Amino acid sequence: MYDYQASMHHKLIIIGAGASGLMAAVTARDLGIDTAILESNDRIGKKISMTGDGRCNITNESTATGTDEAVALSRKYHSSQAEFPLPVLQQFGIRQTIDFFNVLGLPLTRLKEGFMYPMSLQAASVLDIFELALEDRNVPVYLNNKVLDVTVSKDSPRFKFTCRTETEEQVVYTSEYLFLCTGGLTGLNAGTDGSGYALAQRMGHTLIEPVPAIVQLKVQYPHLKALSGIKLQGRAHILVNGEVVRSETGEIHFAEYGLSGPPILQLGRKAAVHLARGDSVTVSVDLMPGRTEEEVIEFLEMNWGTFAHRTVAESFIGFLHKKLIPVLLKEAGIGQEPNLLCQDLSWKTKGIFYKILKHWDFKVTDTHSFENAQATAGGIATKELVANTLESKLVPGLYLAGEVMDVDGDFGGYNLQWSWSSGYSAAMALGKHIFK
Ligand SMILES: Cc1cc2nc3c(=O)[nH]c(=O)nc-3n(C[C@H](O)[C@H](O)[C@H](O)COP(=O)(O)OP(=O)(O)OC[C@H]3O[C@@H](n4cnc5c(N)ncnc54)[C@H](O)[C@@H]3O)c2cc1C
Repeated sequence: MYDYQASMHHKLIIIGAGASGLMAAVTARDLGIDTAILESNDRIGKKISMTGDGRCNITNESTATGTDEAVALSRKYHSSQAEFPLPVLQQFGIRQTIDFFNVLGLPLTRLKEGFMYPMSLQAASVLDIFELALEDRNVPVYLNNKVLDVTVSKDSPRFKFTCRTETEEQVVYTSEYLFLCTGGLTGLNAGTDGSGYALAQRMGHTLIEPVPAIVQLKVQYPHLKALSGIKLQGRAHILVNGEVVRSETGEIHFAEYGLSGPPILQLGRKAAVHLARGDSVTVSVDLMPGRTEEEVIEFLEMNWGTFAHRTVAESFIGFLHKKLIPVLLKEAGIGQEPNLLCQDLSWKTKGIFYKILKHWDFKVTDTHSFENAQATAGGIATKELVANTLESKLVPGLYLAGEVMDVDGDFGGYNLQWSWSSGYSAAMALGKHIFK
């Protein structure tokens, strides 16, 4: 047990020096609010350093078009309350994010499909810039201070919140306002262990069961080992109880456990949510997304007609990955007939090839765990927060920002965007409240 012998007081204490906490700290300090951060790690932004394959996909410019930017952007988010993210995104969207980082000294650059990164293409520079910004503003950051417990005083508004931390310093931290910016459950070695959920729950909040989002799919398929390592351009559909619920196009990766790659990661959330409900989930891969079913049949028939003297395996060379061909032959029941010629293909076998090239179905058994996922679906219930300020309806003076709440975004920079938008909006709301 810790023997707390001293206390440190600030107007605002932010728990968590991740994306949302850092954004909130800079914004609050710029408004003139005495702000400090409590962080369990020995440095700030450990999770940020892992993002975007070490490059940090800060936001996504592809939705920054026209006057309805916030509406278009809000469609990239998921929550039990679908309309919840919009007022936050209206306050601080993509343009404001780009400007904010520019002013901080971190110009962004746009790569494929609107994905925005720091011009250095190094996630570490995002941390460095935040470190400098906090230093410039004299924001104290108490590292190695994991918050174990928060007590809320009913009698003393100035000392409303008391945070007890896991530290050798034997200090308690008191504040008038508290921001909970503790993240979700992904990247477990980045300090996000779900302890923020427990803190919010002990203050009366409800947890919507978290599941991994932006995550790989484990599938049941006998020839996964043979397919492992293949990357192909395709379209993937996720089917729940036989109905297509979402489709994505892009580079699909086959692995020994199942499927990955950007379109699969995008579909991972749907799979996780429905598997948790006990639904039957299938992923269907379209190997020729640029052609209709009729066009695929026409193309194959032409190919088999022109090269009737070649083996069936040879007829696929040139438009299918070579490692895929023996597996397709097995699927069609001719894996044991390597010398079968196109001219001898039966109608039944042709029918299997027609189907499989457009609808190659894999039963999804599970997703990868939080350890491999990039975002958390679920979290603290948004109905217990005021939509445009992110203040708790249950504990006035407590605000939430970032992934800790039940909002998650699509793959492509949208989760960090939520952290920037929510961190900024919460800090601005507090500023308005204090200086009204
Ligand atoms: C591998 C990986 C790659 C990703 N890539 C991208 C990407 O390129 N683009 C994108 O948009 N999103 C990406 N994400 C998602 C993105 O990183 C998160 O959505 C975002 O960091 C969430 O910000 P946050 O502030 O809510 O929480 P976090 O950034 O997770 O920060 C929470 C902080 O709170 C601290 N903390 C937690 N509990 C306590 C406690 N009890 N006491 C004190 N401190 C505590 C943690 O140590 C941590 O520093 C990626 C995620 C992962 C795991």
